[in-house]
Amino acid sequence: MADSRYCEQCGTVFMPRREHARFCCVCCRDVWNREHLGDPMVESSALLWSITAMSEATARLSRAGIWDRRRAFAAIGEAVWWVTLVDATLVRHHPGAYDAVAAGQSPAQRQLIEGTLAGRRFVRNRLGGQAGLAEFIQAAALGPGAGNARIAGWMWKPVPLPVLVSLAPRSRAWEMGRYQAYQAHLAGRTIGRVFRRAATFLTLTAANAGSLADLANADANNGRRHPRIQLGPSRRLQPR
Ligand SMILES: [Zn+2]
Repeated sequence: MADSRYCEQCGTVFMPRREHARFCCVCCRDVWNREHLGDPMVESSALLWSITAMSEATARLSRAGIWDRRRAFAAIGEAVWWVTLVDATLVRHHPGAYDAVAAGQSPAQRQLIEGTLAGRRFVRNRLGGQAGLAEFIQAAALGPGAGNARIAGWMWKPVPLPVLVSLAPRSRAWEMGRYQAYQAHLAGRTIGRVFRRAATFLTLTAANAGSLADLANADANNGRRHPRIQLGPSRRLQPR
């Protein structure tokens, strides 16, 4: 994809690996973050809070029954929202941890998790436009046995190729990639499986980013700020 751009920190031309990448490397990202963002402890605590909400929203799908369709779709919408928030926060602030956790997987697992997250971003983008969740979700029939059925057992539906002419050629290529990921990794799979996979990866990434460890340290020091450990290359490259 011929899509080079300028690093917002150092001005170097680079080839982005993500659609909204703004920096040529992790070090430029870190420098920019230090200069522009607020207290890292506040950021960590917001992330921890979002991870908890994401885990609760995804776990609810395995417990909630399917009788009330409106509530079932609301529960799915909430899970989509929390996963989106955590995913965006980690991609934006901890791309190094994101890549390290992905690199620690087998090639097949890595393809699966990256495809799952890309496919989920396709859903999020469509929901931001005209589409509703019902276009993506195959709800189970309310027949005998439905009393024990859970939302997590509903399926993602295959969807037709969206009309992308309104997008710039560059954005169209990224969106097409996300559409293909949706068809390959979400369509035909259960909702529970897809959310479980995404939530597990994002929780692992947050732990790898050191945010959760920083909070634990602060807690152990009676809330006193622990000296922030610089994320060096050796730490970044050790997937746990
Ligand atoms: Zn740079």
